Amino acid sequence: MAELLKDKVALITGGSSGIGRATALACAREGARVAVADIATAGGQETARLITQAGGEAIFIQADMTKATELEAMVNTVVETYGRLDCAHNNAGIEGALGKTAVYEEAAWEQVIAINLTGVWLCMKYEIPAMLTNGGGAIVNTASAAGLLGVPNMPAYAASKHGVVGLTRTAALEYAKAGVRVNAVCPGIIQTPMVSRLTGERPGMFEKIATAEPIGRVGKPEEIAESVVWLCSDAASFVTGHAMSVDGGIVAQ
Ligand code: NAP
Repeated sequence: MAELLKDKVALITGGSSGIGRATALACAREGARVAVADIATAGGQETARLITQAGGEAIFIQADMTKATELEAMVNTVVETYGRLDCAHNNAGIEGALGKTAVYEEAAWEQVIAINLTGVWLCMKYEIPAMLTNGGGAIVNTASAAGLLGVPNMPAYAASKHGVVGLTRTAALEYAKAGVRVNAVCPGIIQTPMVSRLTGERPGMFEKIATAEPIGRVGKPEEIAESVVWLCSDAASFVTGHAMSVDGGIVAQ
């Protein structure tokens, strides 16, 4: 089988866990050299180890999505290590506190927006110039079905993910002629530690959200990873500014 990302260098944020780890493994399987970035060191090192154990090339870079200096250093480290940056999956994110709009705490709001939205913008701020120096690249931002629909009790999360969709479309238009494609993936409910945190302490909640999926089950991180690999690859060479739902049909309802 052809390797979709042969000779490419891919950076994945939130690569210690869940969707990010699955994407890092899938990018490596498709021939990319992979930089795994996350605030969580042990999980990120484990993702890199899984890649090298399978015969791939990977490094781990610790970076906090709320710190611009760390994100600039993250991109610089990728370029210093591998000589270029071709693909970036800006994926790190948190669900944040739950609560209706009128009672939501300001500090909780700011934390979600800082990581999920400002963090994605800052990643692109440093990734795009690095990509332009080698003629272009592909960025995939992780939005959510919550970037296309309202989600009661998650005002900051839904706002951050709607913001990611708008930012993705804007950057796509700005850099289309320069050869940088920018897309978003909008996952439905995916079985990751994030969803375990949201459902874990509430009996019956996991089963309830699974039935909310038209397809009749929650998704697997690997099912998001496959769409990210495709969007990053030259197979998607005419796709930019797209918010791709990979959601078991939630947004189609
Ligand atoms: P996850 O397993 O919790 O992975 C998220 C990763 O991001 C974790 O390793 C986390 O580290 C890291 N992270 C959190 N804050 C960070 C920060 N400030 N700087 C750097 N890294 C940070 O969750 P996931 O479900 O894979 O989520 C990945 C992305 O998919 C998120 O953007 C999420 O919003 C989105 N998404 C998920 C679903 C779903 O159903 N799972 C649906 C739609 C969209 P810690 O573990 O240390 O916090």
